[in-house]
Amino acid sequence: MRLLRLRQSNFRNLVTAEFAPGPGLSTLVGGNAQGKSNLLEAIFLALGGELKNGMMERVRFGQSEARLLAEVETTFGHSRLETRLSQGGREVYLNESSASLRELAQLPGAVLLGPDDLELVLGAPEERRRFLDLLLSRFSARYRALLSQYNRALQQRNALLKMGGAGIGVWNQELVKYGTEILSLRRRILGRLKPLARDAYSELAPGELGLELFESVDPEHFMQALENGLQDDLQRGATSVGPHRDDLSILLGGLEAGKYASRGEARSVALALRLAEHRLLWAHHDEAPLLLVDEWHTELDARRRQALLNYAQSLPQAILAGLEAPSIGRMIPIEAGVWG
Ligand code: ATP
Ligand code: MG
Repeated sequence: MRLLRLRQSNFRNLVTAEFAPGPGLSTLVGGNAQGKSNLLEAIFLALGGELKNGMMERVRFGQSEARLLAEVETTFGHSRLETRLSQGGREVYLNESSASLRELAQLPGAVLLGPDDLELVLGAPEERRRFLDLLLSRFSARYRALLSQYNRALQQRNALLKMGGAGIGVWNQELVKYGTEILSLRRRILGRLKPLARDAYSELAPGELGLELFESVDPEHFMQALENGLQDDLQRGATSVGPHRDDLSILLGGLEAGKYASRGEARSVALALRLAEHRLLWAHHDEAPLLLVDEWHTELDARRRQALLNYAQSLPQAILAGLEAPSIGRMIPIEAGVWG
C-alpha cells in the first residue's frame, strides 16, 4: 500500500497542507520539536492506525477540529481515507462514506515503529496486551467484537463485586464464553508471530528472541477459577483472572528482556516485534503496509541501523524520521511544521 498524498489541517504543529512522499525510502530530518513525530503520527492515523492517547491533544492548540485526508494506492486501486479529530473523538471516512476502523483494517495500512515501543519491553503487562489486542484486531473483526463484549462483561462483573456480588453468575458465563475464544485467537496469532519476531531479531542483532503467552488462567478451568476466586475478588472489587490479566513474556537468550536487556537490546526487541507485525500483515494482505520508523537511529549501533535500513529499503514505501538522515533514500527537511 502506497501513500500518494496526505492533506492535513490543524494537526498538532504541522503547517504545510500537503505531503507527497514518493515511493521507496524517504527520511524526515530536522532538529528537536520541528514536527517529525507529528507528521509520522498523522500518516499513521490517516491510514487507520490506532493510538492510545486522546484525540483532542492532536488538534492544534486553539482549534476545534483536525483533518487528515490520505490518498492511497492499493492492489484494489485508489482510495481516499479521511480522519476527523475533535472533542467528540475520531470519525473516519472511506471514499467519502462514513466508515469504521474495522472497515479500514481491511487495508494493509501502516505500521509505526517508534521510541514509545520500548514500553513493550520495559513497561507493564498492559502494554504488551494492547500490542496483541491491536494486532489481532487488524486481522480479525471477530476478535475486535469479542474484546469489546468481554470488556463490557468484565465491567459489569466488577461493578457487581463492589455491590456484594449478587447475580454474578451470568457475568461469569459471559466472561468464559468470550474469554475462551479470545485466548484461543491469541494463541493462534502468537504461533505465527513468534518465528517472524525471532527471525527479525536475528537480522538486527546476535541472540535469540523468544515469545511466550503468560495466561493468568487455563481456559479449560476459567469458570472454576472465577468461582474459587470469588471471595478474593469481592475483597478487591476486581476480577483477578482472565485474558485481561495475561501477559506476553519476552525472552532474550532465555532471560526476561524487561529485566536484563541493555537499552539497545530492548530497543532492538521492540523493533523486532514491530517488524514481525509488519511481515504478518504483509502476508495477510498479500501487500506490504507502509513502514513508518520514528527516531530510526536512536540507541542503535551501526550494524542494527544497517539491518533496519536494509529492510526499509526493500519495501515499496517506507518513511523514516530522525535527527540525521541515512546515506540512502530521499531526505525531506522539516522545520517548525513546514517541509518541502
Ligand atoms: P524530536 O526530535 O524532539 O522528537 P519532533 O520533530 O519529533 O522532535 P514533534 O514531537 O513532532 O517534534 O513535536 C513538535 C512540536 O509540536 C512540539 O514542540 C509540540 O509543542 C508541538 N505540538 C504538539 N501538540 C500540539 C498541538 N496540539 N498544537 C500545536 N502544537 C503542538
Ligand atoms: Mg520526535
